[in-house]
Amino acid sequence: MQDLDGKVAFVTGAGSGIGLGIATALAQAGVRVMLCDINKAALDAAVEGLKATNADVDGVLADVSLKDQLQSAADATLEHFGKVHILVNNAGVGGGGDYGTWNDPAWRWVIGVNLMSVVWGFEIFGPLIESHGEGGHIVSTASIAGMVALTNPSYDVTKFGVVALSEDLRPKLAARGIGVSVLCPGVIRTNILESSRNIPDRFQGQIPSGPIEGPGTEVLKAVTEAIASGIDPLYVGELVREAIEGDWPHIFTDLQFEPVIEARFDAIKAGFDRIRGRTPRY
Ligand code: NAD
Repeated sequence: MQDLDGKVAFVTGAGSGIGLGIATALAQAGVRVMLCDINKAALDAAVEGLKATNADVDGVLADVSLKDQLQSAADATLEHFGKVHILVNNAGVGGGGDYGTWNDPAWRWVIGVNLMSVVWGFEIFGPLIESHGEGGHIVSTASIAGMVALTNPSYDVTKFGVVALSEDLRPKLAARGIGVSVLCPGVIRTNILESSRNIPDRFQGQIPSGPIEGPGTEVLKAVTEAIASGIDPLYVGELVREAIEGDWPHIFTDLQFEPVIEARFDAIKAGFDRIRGRTPRY
Protein backbone atom coordinates (compact mmCIF):
# COMPACT_ATOMS: atom_id res chain seq x y z
CA MET A 1 0.00 0.00 0.00
CA GLN A 2 1.66 3.18 -1.15
CA ASP A 3 -0.67 5.93 0.01
CA LEU A 4 -1.48 5.51 3.71
CA ASP A 5 -2.96 8.97 4.31
CA GLY A 6 -6.67 8.69 5.20
CA LYS A 7 -6.69 4.89 5.31
CA VAL A 8 -8.11 3.02 8.34
CA ALA A 9 -6.15 0.60 10.55
CA PHE A 10 -7.19 -1.73 13.36
CA VAL A 11 -4.37 -2.54 15.81
CA THR A 12 -4.63 -5.13 18.61
CA GLY A 13 -2.60 -4.80 21.80
CA ALA A 14 -2.40 -1.09 21.00
CA GLY A 15 -2.51 0.10 24.61
CA SER A 16 1.17 -0.58 25.24
CA GLY A 17 4.57 -1.34 23.74
CA ILE A 18 4.89 -2.36 20.10
CA GLY A 19 1.16 -2.01 19.36
CA LEU A 20 1.17 1.57 20.62
CA GLY A 21 4.35 2.22 18.62
CA ILE A 22 2.66 0.92 15.45
CA ALA A 23 -0.57 2.87 16.12
CA THR A 24 1.49 6.03 16.67
CA ALA A 25 3.60 5.60 13.54
CA LEU A 26 0.51 4.93 11.43
CA ALA A 27 -1.34 7.92 12.91
CA GLN A 28 1.69 10.10 12.12
CA ALA A 29 1.28 9.05 8.47
CA GLY A 30 -2.36 10.22 8.47
CA VAL A 31 -3.88 6.79 9.05
CA ARG A 32 -7.11 6.73 11.07
CA VAL A 33 -6.56 4.11 13.76
CA MET A 34 -8.88 1.98 15.91
CA LEU A 35 -6.83 0.92 18.92
CA CYS A 36 -7.92 -2.37 20.52
CA ASP A 37 -6.81 -3.75 23.88
CA ILE A 38 -7.98 -5.86 26.82
CA ASN A 39 -6.64 -3.33 29.32
CA LYS A 40 -9.04 -0.37 29.67
CA ALA A 41 -6.69 1.97 31.54
CA ALA A 42 -3.86 1.44 29.04
CA LEU A 43 -6.25 1.74 26.08
CA ASP A 44 -7.82 4.97 27.34
CA ALA A 45 -4.40 6.52 28.01
CA ALA A 46 -3.13 5.52 24.56
CA VAL A 47 -6.21 6.93 22.78
CA GLU A 48 -6.09 10.12 24.81
CA GLY A 49 -2.36 10.55 24.13
CA LEU A 50 -2.82 10.16 20.37
CA LYS A 51 -5.91 12.38 20.26
CA ALA A 52 -3.80 15.08 21.90
CA THR A 53 -1.62 15.04 18.77
CA ASN A 54 -4.75 15.61 16.62
CA ALA A 55 -4.66 12.03 15.33
CA ASP A 56 -7.99 10.61 14.15
CA VAL A 57 -8.16 7.61 16.49
CA ASP A 58 -10.61 5.73 18.66
CA GLY A 59 -10.44 2.78 21.04
CA VAL A 60 -12.32 -0.48 21.50
CA LEU A 61 -12.02 -2.82 24.45
CA ALA A 62 -11.75 -6.53 23.56
CA ASP A 63 -10.15 -9.77 24.68
CA VAL A 64 -8.92 -10.90 21.28
CA SER A 65 -8.61 -14.50 22.49
CA LEU A 66 -12.42 -14.63 22.33
CA LYS A 67 -13.69 -14.66 18.74
CA ASP A 68 -16.99 -12.91 19.46
CA GLN A 69 -15.16 -10.01 21.14
CA LEU A 70 -12.83 -9.63 18.14
CA GLN A 71 -15.87 -9.70 15.83
CA SER A 72 -17.57 -6.98 17.95
CA ALA A 73 -14.39 -4.88 17.77
CA ALA A 74 -14.39 -5.24 13.97
CA ASP A 75 -18.07 -4.17 13.90
CA ALA A 76 -17.23 -1.14 16.06
CA THR A 77 -14.41 -0.20 13.67
CA LEU A 78 -16.74 -0.23 10.66
CA GLU A 79 -19.36 1.69 12.58
CA HIS A 80 -16.88 4.40 13.52
CA PHE A 81 -14.68 4.66 10.39
CA GLY A 82 -16.88 3.12 7.66
CA LYS A 83 -14.19 0.76 6.32
CA VAL A 84 -10.86 -0.80 7.22
CA HIS A 85 -7.67 -1.22 5.14
CA ILE A 86 -4.97 -2.34 7.57
CA LEU A 87 -5.09 -5.03 10.27
CA VAL A 88 -2.26 -5.35 12.79
CA ASN A 89 -2.55 -8.61 14.76
CA ASN A 90 -0.17 -7.58 17.51
CA ALA A 91 -1.60 -8.48 20.95
CA GLY A 92 0.53 -11.10 22.65
CA VAL A 93 1.55 -12.54 25.98
CA GLY A 94 4.48 -14.48 27.40
CA GLY A 95 4.63 -16.61 30.49
CA GLY A 96 2.81 -19.84 29.74
CA GLY A 97 5.21 -21.85 31.90
CA ASP A 98 8.14 -24.06 30.91
CA TYR A 99 8.46 -27.85 30.83
CA GLY A 100 7.49 -29.14 34.25
CA THR A 101 5.40 -26.09 35.16
CA TRP A 102 2.98 -25.60 32.26
CA ASN A 103 -0.67 -26.65 32.51
CA ASP A 104 -3.66 -26.69 30.16
CA PRO A 105 -5.06 -23.25 31.12
CA ALA A 106 -1.63 -21.71 30.46
CA TRP A 107 -1.42 -23.30 26.99
CA ARG A 108 -5.00 -22.21 26.21
CA TRP A 109 -4.30 -18.62 27.30
CA VAL A 110 -1.12 -18.26 25.25
CA ILE A 111 -2.50 -20.07 22.17
CA GLY A 112 -5.69 -17.99 22.37
CA VAL A 113 -3.99 -14.59 22.51
CA ASN A 114 -0.88 -15.25 20.40
CA LEU A 115 -2.24 -17.55 17.70
CA MET A 116 -6.04 -17.94 17.52
CA SER A 117 -6.57 -14.18 17.58
CA VAL A 118 -4.35 -13.99 14.49
CA VAL A 119 -6.28 -16.79 12.75
CA TRP A 120 -9.55 -14.98 13.55
CA GLY A 121 -8.05 -11.63 12.56
CA PHE A 122 -7.42 -12.92 9.03
CA GLU A 123 -10.83 -14.60 8.96
CA ILE A 124 -12.82 -11.57 10.15
CA PHE A 125 -10.88 -8.67 8.61
CA GLY A 126 -9.77 -10.29 5.31
CA PRO A 127 -13.26 -10.08 3.73
CA LEU A 128 -13.80 -6.57 5.16
CA ILE A 129 -10.58 -5.34 3.52
CA GLU A 130 -11.40 -7.09 0.28
CA SER A 131 -14.96 -5.74 0.14
CA HIS A 132 -14.09 -2.10 -0.67
CA GLY A 133 -11.68 -2.91 -3.51
CA GLU A 134 -9.10 -0.34 -2.36
CA GLY A 135 -6.59 -2.98 -1.22
CA GLY A 136 -5.02 -3.36 2.17
CA HIS A 137 -2.42 -5.00 4.33
CA ILE A 138 -2.26 -7.40 7.28
CA VAL A 139 0.73 -7.38 9.64
CA SER A 140 1.00 -9.97 12.42
CA THR A 141 3.48 -9.72 15.25
CA ALA A 142 5.40 -12.98 15.71
CA SER A 143 8.90 -12.76 17.17
CA ILE A 144 12.46 -13.91 16.58
CA ALA A 145 11.02 -16.80 18.65
CA GLY A 146 8.96 -17.60 15.54
CA MET A 147 12.21 -18.26 13.66
CA VAL A 148 14.18 -20.09 16.32
CA ALA A 149 12.82 -21.69 19.50
CA LEU A 150 14.58 -19.82 22.30
CA THR A 151 12.07 -18.64 24.91
CA ASN A 152 9.52 -21.07 26.35
CA PRO A 153 7.41 -23.75 24.66
CA SER A 154 3.99 -22.10 24.35
CA TYR A 155 5.48 -18.77 23.26
CA ASP A 156 7.76 -20.41 20.66
CA VAL A 157 4.99 -22.67 19.34
CA THR A 158 2.53 -19.81 18.87
CA LYS A 159 5.12 -17.53 17.26
CA PHE A 160 6.20 -20.26 14.79
CA GLY A 161 2.48 -20.60 14.07
CA VAL A 162 2.12 -16.89 13.28
CA VAL A 163 5.09 -17.06 10.89
CA ALA A 164 3.65 -20.17 9.18
CA LEU A 165 0.17 -18.65 8.87
CA SER A 166 1.58 -15.43 7.39
CA GLU A 167 3.83 -17.24 4.90
CA ASP A 168 0.93 -19.51 3.88
CA LEU A 169 -1.54 -16.68 3.37
CA ARG A 170 0.79 -14.15 1.72
CA PRO A 171 0.46 -15.46 -1.87
CA LYS A 172 -3.21 -16.33 -1.39
CA LEU A 173 -4.19 -12.86 -0.18
CA ALA A 174 -1.91 -11.10 -2.70
CA ALA A 175 -4.33 -12.36 -5.34
CA ARG A 176 -7.09 -10.57 -3.40
CA GLY A 177 -5.25 -7.25 -3.15
CA ILE A 178 -4.08 -7.70 0.44
CA GLY A 179 -0.39 -7.65 1.39
CA VAL A 180 0.75 -9.87 4.26
CA SER A 181 3.78 -9.26 6.49
CA VAL A 182 5.06 -10.95 9.60
CA LEU A 183 6.89 -8.85 12.19
CA CYS A 184 9.69 -10.66 14.03
CA PRO A 185 11.00 -8.23 16.65
CA GLY A 186 14.17 -8.79 18.63
CA VAL A 187 14.34 -7.28 22.12
CA ILE A 188 11.99 -4.30 22.41
CA ARG A 189 11.46 -1.99 25.43
CA THR A 190 7.86 -2.90 26.39
CA ASN A 191 5.78 -4.33 29.26
CA ILE A 192 5.84 -7.90 27.88
CA LEU A 193 7.38 -9.34 31.06
CA GLU A 194 4.33 -8.16 33.00
CA SER A 195 1.97 -10.15 30.75
CA SER A 196 0.26 -11.72 33.77
CA ARG A 197 -1.51 -8.36 34.26
CA ASN A 198 -3.62 -9.34 31.25
CA ILE A 199 -4.66 -12.87 32.26
CA PRO A 200 -8.39 -12.99 31.38
CA ASP A 201 -10.79 -13.56 34.28
CA ARG A 202 -11.62 -17.08 33.12
CA PHE A 203 -7.99 -18.15 33.74
CA GLN A 204 -7.43 -16.24 37.00
CA GLY A 205 -5.55 -18.31 39.59
CA GLN A 206 -4.84 -21.08 37.08
CA ILE A 207 -1.70 -19.84 35.27
CA PRO A 208 1.63 -20.89 36.85
CA SER A 209 3.88 -17.96 37.76
CA GLY A 210 7.44 -17.52 36.46
CA PRO A 211 10.59 -18.72 38.24
CA ILE A 212 10.90 -17.34 41.78
CA GLU A 213 14.29 -18.88 42.56
CA GLY A 214 16.80 -21.29 41.04
CA PRO A 215 18.59 -21.05 37.66
CA GLY A 216 15.57 -19.44 35.98
CA THR A 217 15.94 -16.37 38.19
CA GLU A 218 19.27 -15.40 36.60
CA VAL A 219 17.84 -15.83 33.10
CA LEU A 220 14.81 -13.75 34.00
CA LYS A 221 17.06 -11.04 35.44
CA ALA A 222 19.12 -10.92 32.22
CA VAL A 223 15.96 -10.80 30.06
CA THR A 224 14.47 -8.07 32.26
CA GLU A 225 17.62 -5.97 31.87
CA ALA A 226 17.74 -6.57 28.11
CA ILE A 227 14.11 -5.51 27.66
CA ALA A 228 14.53 -2.45 29.89
CA SER A 229 17.25 -1.22 27.52
CA GLY A 230 15.64 -2.66 24.37
CA ILE A 231 14.73 -1.02 21.08
CA ASP A 232 12.22 1.88 21.10
CA PRO A 233 8.71 0.57 20.18
CA LEU A 234 8.08 3.67 18.03
CA TYR A 235 11.13 2.73 15.93
CA VAL A 236 9.46 -0.67 15.39
CA GLY A 237 6.23 1.12 14.46
CA GLU A 238 8.07 3.19 11.85
CA LEU A 239 9.59 0.01 10.37
CA VAL A 240 6.11 -1.53 10.18
CA ARG A 241 4.79 1.55 8.37
CA GLU A 242 7.66 1.29 5.86
CA ALA A 243 7.00 -2.46 5.49
CA ILE A 244 3.32 -1.85 4.69
CA GLU A 245 4.31 0.72 2.07
CA GLY A 246 6.93 -1.64 0.61
CA ASP A 247 5.02 -4.93 1.10
CA TRP A 248 7.89 -6.62 2.97
CA PRO A 249 7.24 -10.36 3.68
CA HIS A 250 9.36 -10.45 6.87
CA ILE A 251 10.01 -7.46 9.13
CA PHE A 252 13.06 -7.75 11.39
CA THR A 253 14.02 -5.00 13.82
CA ASP A 254 17.79 -5.55 14.07
CA LEU A 255 20.57 -8.06 13.37
CA GLN A 256 21.15 -9.35 16.92
CA PHE A 257 19.69 -12.81 16.34
CA GLU A 258 20.71 -13.31 12.69
CA PRO A 259 23.60 -15.68 13.66
CA VAL A 260 21.25 -17.77 15.85
CA ILE A 261 18.81 -18.15 12.98
CA GLU A 262 21.66 -19.02 10.59
CA ALA A 263 22.81 -21.70 13.07
CA ARG A 264 19.30 -23.20 12.99
CA PHE A 265 19.31 -23.21 9.19
CA ASP A 266 22.76 -24.90 9.27
CA ALA A 267 21.44 -27.58 11.66
CA ILE A 268 18.51 -28.23 9.32
CA LYS A 269 20.87 -28.42 6.34
CA ALA A 270 23.01 -30.91 8.29
CA GLY A 271 19.92 -33.09 8.62
CA PHE A 272 19.66 -33.29 4.82
CA ASP A 273 23.44 -33.84 4.49
CA ARG A 274 23.17 -36.84 6.83
CA ILE A 275 20.97 -38.75 4.34
CA ARG A 276 22.39 -37.28 1.11
CA GLY A 277 23.23 -40.00 -1.43
CA ARG A 278 20.82 -42.54 0.01
CA THR A 279 17.91 -43.84 -2.07
CA PRO A 280 14.63 -43.95 -0.12
CA ARG A 281 12.66 -47.21 -0.19
CA TYR A 282 9.13 -46.77 -1.68
P1 NAD B 1 3.16 -5.26 25.97
O1 NAD B 1 2.78 -6.12 27.14
O2 NAD B 1 3.80 -3.95 26.23
O3 NAD B 1 1.92 -5.05 25.02
C1 NAD B 1 1.00 -6.08 24.74
C2 NAD B 1 -0.41 -5.49 24.66
O4 NAD B 1 -1.32 -6.55 24.34
C3 NAD B 1 -0.86 -4.89 25.99
O5 NAD B 1 -1.38 -3.60 25.81
C4 NAD B 1 -1.91 -5.87 26.48
O6 NAD B 1 -2.89 -5.26 27.29
C5 NAD B 1 -2.46 -6.40 25.17
N1 NAD B 1 -3.13 -7.70 25.35
C6 NAD B 1 -2.72 -8.77 26.08
N2 NAD B 1 -3.64 -9.74 26.06
C7 NAD B 1 -4.66 -9.29 25.30
C8 NAD B 1 -5.91 -9.84 24.90
N3 NAD B 1 -6.29 -11.06 25.31
N4 NAD B 1 -6.71 -9.10 24.11
C9 NAD B 1 -6.35 -7.85 23.71
N5 NAD B 1 -5.18 -7.27 24.06
C10 NAD B 1 -4.34 -7.99 24.84
O7 NAD B 1 4.14 -6.19 25.12
P2 NAD B 1 4.77 -6.01 23.65
O8 NAD B 1 6.17 -6.46 23.76
O9 NAD B 1 4.49 -4.68 23.08
O10 NAD B 1 3.96 -7.13 22.87
C11 NAD B 1 3.39 -6.91 21.58
C12 NAD B 1 3.71 -8.07 20.68
O11 NAD B 1 5.11 -8.11 20.41
C13 NAD B 1 3.37 -9.43 21.29
O12 NAD B 1 2.77 -10.25 20.29
C14 NAD B 1 4.72 -9.98 21.68
O13 NAD B 1 4.72 -11.39 21.73
C15 NAD B 1 5.58 -9.43 20.58
N6 NAD B 1 7.04 -9.38 20.78
C16 NAD B 1 7.59 -8.62 21.77
C17 NAD B 1 8.97 -8.57 21.91
C18 NAD B 1 9.63 -7.71 22.96
O14 NAD B 1 10.87 -7.80 23.11
N7 NAD B 1 8.94 -6.88 23.67
C19 NAD B 1 9.79 -9.32 21.07
C20 NAD B 1 9.19 -10.11 20.09
C21 NAD B 1 7.81 -10.12 19.94
